[in-house]
Parts: sequence; structure tokens; C-alpha cells
Amino acid sequence: MTSFARRLYPELMWFRTPAEARIALRRAKSELNWNLPFILALVLVLVPLAIIAPLLLPTLGVPLAWRGWIRFGIILGAISSSWVLTWFFRRSVRRSLRMQLVSLGVPICIACSYNLAHCQSEHCPECGSIIEPPPSAT
Ligand SMILES: [Zn+2]
Repeated sequence: MTSFARRLYPELMWFRTPAEARIALRRAKSELNWNLPFILALVLVLVPLAIIAPLLLPTLGVPLAWRGWIRFGIILGAISSSWVLTWFFRRSVRRSLRMQLVSLGVPICIACSYNLAHCQSEHCPECGSIIEPPPSAT
């Protein structure tokens, strides 16, 4: 588990072992069902754009000096879009991680990840949401 992943998903430090955290993160990401159509759409837009733009730039009268930068920008945009997606779906991944933690018996607020270890109330003292009881061990 990289320190970047830990910073992106603070819930990961609640898991007992790094292996457990890795599995939970994989499961949380697999629960996002946007994956295929969204990435497909992104690729279908960005790849043709990256191919067409350099051919189109001379006809649009773009100065030669700019063309390299525009191409660079398109490539950078294609690469950074995966980061944008990561940030965009961070909330749902974190929520899924918290739900997995609760099902493992870790006392944590699903809404805000507040530590509920010594909390007697039915509501989270941090965000006020109703505390979901851990699954009974039956
Ligand atoms: Zn809370």
C-alpha cells in the first residue's frame, strides 16, 4: 500500500493488515459500475482528438510554435483524466471501504469515518448521522 493510497483513502489504515486493505480497496473499486462505459467514452473522444488535432492545427492557422504545446496538452489531458476520475469517485470508494470496515466489526462512522470506539450514542458525535450497528455474529 503506497503512502499516496493511504492519503487518498484514509480508511485503509483501519484494516488489520496491508493485504486486507488491498483486497478491500480492490473490492471497493470493482463496485463502481461506471468503469467500462465511461472509460470507453473517454477513449473514443480523446484518442481521435489526439490523432486529429495535429492534422487539423495547420489548417486552423495555429502558429507553429503553439502546435507542440497543444499536442502536449492533449496528451497530458488524456493522462490526467484518470487522476480526475480517481478524485471524482473517491467518495464512493471511501464509503465502500467504511462499509467493509463496519462489516469487519471496526467501529467507524460510515458517513464521516469518525472513530466510534467509545461512542454510546445512536448518532455519530462528529456528523450526527445514525450509527449503523455492526452485523450480528450469527
Ligand atoms: Zn459521522
